[in-house]
Amino acid sequence: MEQNKEMDRLAEIFGKENVLKDEPMSRHTTFRIGGAADFFVKVQTISQLQEAMRYLKKEQIPFYIVGNGSNLLVRDEGVRGVVLQLGERFSGYEFLHETPGSVAQSGTAVDKNQIVMVRAKAGSLLGRLGKEFAEYSLSGFEFASGIPGTLGGAVYMNAGAYGGEIKDILVRATLMDMDGSLFEFTNQQMQFGYRKSIAAEKNYIVLEADLALHVSSKEEVLAKMAELSAQRRLKQPLEYPSAGSTFKRPEGYFAGKLISDAGLKGFSVGGAQVSEKHAGFVINTGNATAADVIALTDAVRDKVFEKYGVKLELEIKQLG
Ligand SMILES: Cc1cc2nc3c(=O)[nH]c(=O)nc-3n(C[C@H](O)[C@H](O)[C@H](O)COP(=O)(O)OP(=O)(O)OC[C@H]3O[C@@H](n4cnc5c(N)ncnc54)[C@H](O)[C@@H]3O)c2cc1C
Repeated sequence: MEQNKEMDRLAEIFGKENVLKDEPMSRHTTFRIGGAADFFVKVQTISQLQEAMRYLKKEQIPFYIVGNGSNLLVRDEGVRGVVLQLGERFSGYEFLHETPGSVAQSGTAVDKNQIVMVRAKAGSLLGRLGKEFAEYSLSGFEFASGIPGTLGGAVYMNAGAYGGEIKDILVRATLMDMDGSLFEFTNQQMQFGYRKSIAAEKNYIVLEADLALHVSSKEEVLAKMAELSAQRRLKQPLEYPSAGSTFKRPEGYFAGKLISDAGLKGFSVGGAQVSEKHAGFVINTGNATAADVIALTDAVRDKVFEKYGVKLELEIKQLG
């Protein structure tokens, strides 16, 4: 890539302050792993995204969209092309109908089980949304509030935890295809499955999601969130960088249990280690490289297959 020319054009589209050159992806992943992206860009508007896609496609420059990097393993060699992240202006939410006055003002519920529709932007962090919804005494989102990703990443992955999934609360999503066309899909059209959606299958960019929440009491919502968060702290190695569950849950099994039963807790390659606390997590104990993680996950997969005949499939997405 002629980097100076590209830099100038990207700065023209996005504003210089939103374009970083040779940006280490370790700064943008919860694994704290990953070489440099040629360009890392914060997208602030839909028209910027559309203009960039036209330009990048015409010049045949590869591009990728990322959220909070909490499900990503970026290769040590980095990423050729442009990594796009939805910026601050893709964060926030609005109530789709008039905000129920009693809920909005007092934060206490009157009409329990009343459905409230919220339109949230894809760059919003799930934790932030969770707190805001709790303030309005809205229930239904508690399961997602401890997942360290953005709403866009969560819709793309159909993220889920503790019995809830994005598919349970999403009514409609606003998407963009690789030609920059915008369209809306209903829950059914999203074709949600276990950690998958049509957005993942067709490379659609998630821009917004309409969520159906229901009125509860603020205390109950906060208590549920606190309980789930305590469970996470107890069971998951949150004190180390990771990308969450490394492998998908194989049908009829739990990846963590298979790995643990295969005697692989604590098994490490370089700075990558199968967590002692939760064998379903690979952690970065300090200076792990992507190569360490790949060698480790390959070895884990081989060993589990050899012992139990079960094929583990990566849940984390590789980039670069
Ligand atoms: C400690 C920890 C705990 C976790 N617990 C859970 C859990 O309980 N349940 C769970 O499901 N996951 C969990 N995860 C994994 C991860 O947080 C989720 O998959 C999350 O939904 C990813 O969101 P993200 O914004 O970080 O996406 P990224 O990691 O940045 O990207 C993930 C994928 O989504 C795509 N993507 C991101 N944003 C968009 C967008 N706007 N439009 C289109 N595609 C997009 C990317 O291209 C990539 O393929 C955990 C991770 C960690 C580190």
